Amino acid sequence: MKIFTFSFDDGTVQDRRLAGLFSSYGFRGSFNINSGFFGNRHRIRHIGIECDHSELSRDEALSVYKDHEICAHTKTHPDLRTLSDEQITDEVEGDRKALEELFALPVTGMAYPGGGKPYNERVIRVINETTGIRFARTILSHHRFEMPKSFMEWHPTCDINDLSALDLAEDFIAMPDEGVSLFYIWGHSFEFDKLDSWDIIEKLCARLSQADGLVNMTCGEVFRAYAK
Ligand SMILES: [Zn+2]
Repeated sequence: MKIFTFSFDDGTVQDRRLAGLFSSYGFRGSFNINSGFFGNRHRIRHIGIECDHSELSRDEALSVYKDHEICAHTKTHPDLRTLSDEQITDEVEGDRKALEELFALPVTGMAYPGGGKPYNERVIRVINETTGIRFARTILSHHRFEMPKSFMEWHPTCDINDLSALDLAEDFIAMPDEGVSLFYIWGHSFEFDKLDSWDIIEKLCARLSQADGLVNMTCGEVFRAYAK
């Protein structure tokens, strides 16, 4: 079984194009959303480049993500390590419940907000003990095709804007179909605007759709099928 999964963060307006691209191939992505930011309008400046980082409105999110999986990303994107236990619960479980209510679907996964390693043992323990979250993605890419040792520290294969993403896709397609392998791609759709790199995700989707024997699953589908 060779599975590929997509996980994209922040719920920005560029998800319109990304979700549409996935749908055009019949793929489903997992989108990690901050319920405290719906409808915000703002631009960010990063590595010297300015781009739109506005979040979708509630109404538009309902239509943009209707074929996809919704996961949590905390209410307001804080560094969870700096919060009290109660605040962690409020940010994570508050987001999870708000998303469940809006989308009328179970929400059981998340992506940790922030760069680097923005979580620790206490954050994981509090989330395990006080929220309905059962899997959580990091941004610590490992460039391998494997299931996580812990679904609460689910390290992805690569950032889509990683220069090697398309090479990794070729490695994944060429590898033998033995056991279960997972090509886990994560990113931010606003970075396709920022870096003028929509061609990377367009090429990746086209390539994955042409290859024989690959299966697209949401992160939640992978979790439910393979978590012990
Ligand atoms: Zn984020």
